[in-house]
Formats: sequence, structure tokens, C-alpha cells
Amino acid sequence: MALEHHLWFRCLVPLVLLGLLCYASWAFCYALCYREVYHKFGQKSIGVGLMFGQLVLVVVLIGTWSQLVAIGPGRQPKVLPFRILPENVNSDGEEELSGKSPQHPPMTIVPPSLYQCDPQGYPLWCTACQTIKGNRTHHSSTLGYCVPRFDHYCVWIGTVVGRKNYRLFMQFTMYAGWFCIFVIASIASFLRRMIASRKDIPRVDPNILVLLALCCVFMLMVGPLFLSHCYYMAKNRTSLEVIATKRRSKATKNWLCYLNPVDGLRYVFEFKALDTQDYWKKRGVLANIKEFLGPQYWFWLVPLGTNIKTHDPNSFEYEVILGPYQEVASDQLRELLHSRIANGDFAATFEAYGDKDK
Ligand SMILES: [Zn+2]
Repeated sequence: MALEHHLWFRCLVPLVLLGLLCYASWAFCYALCYREVYHKFGQKSIGVGLMFGQLVLVVVLIGTWSQLVAIGPGRQPKVLPFRILPENVNSDGEEELSGKSPQHPPMTIVPPSLYQCDPQGYPLWCTACQTIKGNRTHHSSTLGYCVPRFDHYCVWIGTVVGRKNYRLFMQFTMYAGWFCIFVIASIASFLRRMIASRKDIPRVDPNILVLLALCCVFMLMVGPLFLSHCYYMAKNRTSLEVIATKRRSKATKNWLCYLNPVDGLRYVFEFKALDTQDYWKKRGVLANIKEFLGPQYWFWLVPLGTNIKTHDPNSFEYEVILGPYQEVASDQLRELLHSRIANGDFAATFEAYGDKDK
């Protein structure tokens, strides 16, 4: 068992981080705001104001963090195999259409118009969860289930970031950045007076110096992380897709299976690893960001809940099962696939049995 699968190890780093946050909060409120600003410089309202501002940020950070872990990355509902081959042909050679009688719930479902597949056009299967992996779904070995739009496992917060808690993750990094900026700016504005007011060594309370160093280090980590994720959202990519594209050699390929509405045939397309990260990109930066943060702008800044609505996956229709976890192909991608069909640029073609039921 890898180290990161052990609960104690997964809790270790987040606990250290929580400890550092508590220490930072204490050092800021007591050593800076109370002892220096409030007591020594006599600027009582400024001291109290800074303390209040910092405590609000700490409450927002811990609140967002708890929700990140409690809500989790989302769990893909079980998707039955796609009806690509005929099934339930009885001894007389007559087909029993599955799902028509309540005694025989269907074992397969009608395939969606577009799905990620292998070179033969078979969808990707998770043996651990016994389900078809929806587009962009990845099995998390840490959590033991399939996560829709899996992004990454965050060591710091101790959970997986996926479709359901992605917005909270972005908000957490943003408010962590604001926390660091707030503390650094407050210390910087009083640093000169603190040095001038002390005759003995050290000229500044060591707690304040440690706090300043901690916030600078965290700002250097959180800042680039936040900006790179803004870029990924604008391009509609997940961290996993970016990493996979980088890691794979240029020879590694990926496949998409698409139902051509014109002739009713399925086409399998081969893609180079580099092309796969732009499968889901839409026209316009805002359209892409909305797919991650939700359509309501004011919720982009409010770290409350998730933008994934609960749904009832108890259905035999792909679109209903996946509900809000369904990934939508862009017009660009469809146009590209149609032009590839016209040019004969596809790996395979076949007639999927279930497409007749559409
Ligand atoms: Zn799985």
C-alpha cells in the first residue's frame, strides 16, 4: 500500500498546515496587533481592525477547507455497459428488448453520442467500480471510487479535487493568497516603527519575523497555483489532463467514439496525446470558466456549497445517470469530427446496436 493511502499520512500534512494557520493567527493578533500596534503605538482602533480582518479570513479559510473535505470531489454514479452489441437474444432468435419488462432490468444502456474509448470503440471500464467511466472520469485510488472530472489529489488539504469541490478549491487558494497578502502588508507597514522603537536585539519580535517568512513562502506557492488553475479553467483543462499530456510520449494515442447523425454510423477517431487536453474546450474564456465555477458570477467569490445539483442517478439513460457530471462536447469538436469523417480520417467505423433505440 502506498504511503498516501494511509489515513494517518493523509491527515499529517493537513494537520501541520492547520497548526501553522493557528500559529500565524496567534502571532498576528497577539504579537503584532495587540503588543505592538495596540499597546506600544497606542493605535487601538487600527490594532482591533487588523485583528478582526485577519480573523474573518481565518474563519473563511477553515470554513472553505471543511466544506472541501466534507463535500468531496464527487462520485460518478454507476454507468451500465453501452448497448454496442446485441443482447438478450433468446433461443428462438428473437430479441428481448431489455428494460421493457420490469422483471428484467436492462444490462446495457443506449450509448451517448460521444464517448472516450479504446481503438475498437469500446468505452473505458473501471474494474474496481464495475462501471463505465464517463468522459473525464478518473478512478481515485485514494478514495476508492471514480471521480468525475478528477483534477488532482491535494496533499495540503488532504482530499481529492474533482468536479464537485473544484470551485471551493479555487476559492480556498484565492483566500489563502489574500490571507498572505493581508499579513505581509500589515507587517510591512509597521516594520520600520517596530525596528525604530526597540533598542535591544532582536529589533523585531521573532514571532513576527517567522510569520512574515511563512506568509512569503506560502504566497510563492499559492500564487502560481491559483494563476495556473485560472489558465487551465480558461482552456477547460484539468490538472490531470495537463500532466498526462506532458508525461506521455508523443506516440501515445487516445480515441473518441462519435455517432454521426447523418448516416447513423459510429466513428472511432485517433488523437495524439497533445490534442486530448482540448477535447472539452469551448469558444470563449467565460464559457469555459463557467463549466468549472458555475453560471452565477457572485457565487464565484462566495465559498459556500457546490455548484453541482444533487440528482437521481436511478435511471437507464446515460444523460440522466450522469446528470450534472455529464461533459458536453463543443461545436468545434463536432465540426472537427465531421471534417475528419469527410476526409476519411478515422480509425474504425461500426453500427452500434443501441443507436437504433434512439
Ligand atoms: Zn472506479
